[in-house]
Amino acid sequence: MIQSVAFIGLGAMGYRMAAHLPKHFETVYVWNRTFAKAEEHAVEYGTQAVALEQAVQADIIFSCLPTSADVEALVQGLSLKAGSIWVDCTSGVPDAARHLEEALTEQGVIFLDAPVSGQTIGAENGTLTVMVGGNAEGFEKALPAMQAFGKLIKHVGTSGAGFAVKAVNNMLLAVNLCAAAEGFTTLKAHGVDLNEALDCINASSGKSNVTETVLRQRILNRSFPVTFALPLLAKDTGIALDLARDAKLAVPLLALGQSLMQAASNLSDKNSDFSSAVKMYESWSNITIE
Ligand code: NDP
Repeated sequence: MIQSVAFIGLGAMGYRMAAHLPKHFETVYVWNRTFAKAEEHAVEYGTQAVALEQAVQADIIFSCLPTSADVEALVQGLSLKAGSIWVDCTSGVPDAARHLEEALTEQGVIFLDAPVSGQTIGAENGTLTVMVGGNAEGFEKALPAMQAFGKLIKHVGTSGAGFAVKAVNNMLLAVNLCAAAEGFTTLKAHGVDLNEALDCINASSGKSNVTETVLRQRILNRSFPVTFALPLLAKDTGIALDLARDAKLAVPLLALGQSLMQAASNLSDKNSDFSSAVKMYESWSNITIE
């Protein structure tokens, strides 16, 4: 029986994910590095903004920080409650999940890597996909809490498996984004109407999430709303490439995808949306995708 839950890291994702918890649980602690955001969350959603030391006394502790290194640094030195479950929704590194699992086991705490997909709109609507690695019994116990913000919630394997699935997913997003940028600059160079072309492609075999949502909602209308920062996508492609290299696989497309995302990220403001990676292609070709 889950009596209390906590959410640590109220960023673009965490703020919205944590908003669902008070609908299901009486005691919901929130903590954020910039504490004013936690206080704002408490006022807006009826959560309790508390010190980190108190937040981690909850039965289920969620975290959603930029990187695994941030989570590892945060966990160090914390005294946790035996029997609790730490559910890390960061898009993290599989090796870090295994280290954290080991470290938290010493305090009698189960660690699950549980990254999410579905962007800020999915967080807001409580329709995220959650891919979970780690102890199967812990997964079953934490499931009711994850259901507060998740729609498809899968246990995909042992510790680190969730992070691996997320990294590969985001690599596929990056590769599709690059392919769409190249394809659509080519069409524009040949005088094709991009909106009409998009309708055709979305009813054809070359469609992807990028053509179905990202192109129309973020790129063609030149809005590039910042909901998922480009450096975070570049981080994820790096994790996916490291995984492939660890397994000594030949992955030329993944290597290229990572190089392109890293280059686009280096060329952009760090607060750019992931979709603005196409601007690198636009600067090479002098063609605007609109
Ligand atoms: P944001 O940058 O919006 O938020 C990051 C949060 O982490 C903030 O609350 C920030 O606190 C906190 N934080 C940053 N560094 C530290 C630290 N060293 N110690 C403690 N707290 C810290 O990121 P997102 O919410 O967009 O992303 C979070 C995770 O979710 C990432 O791993 C990302 O890849 C993943 N993700 C993001 C999606 C999206 O669409 N945005 C979709 C799916 C996954 P402060 O307010 O003080 O800065």
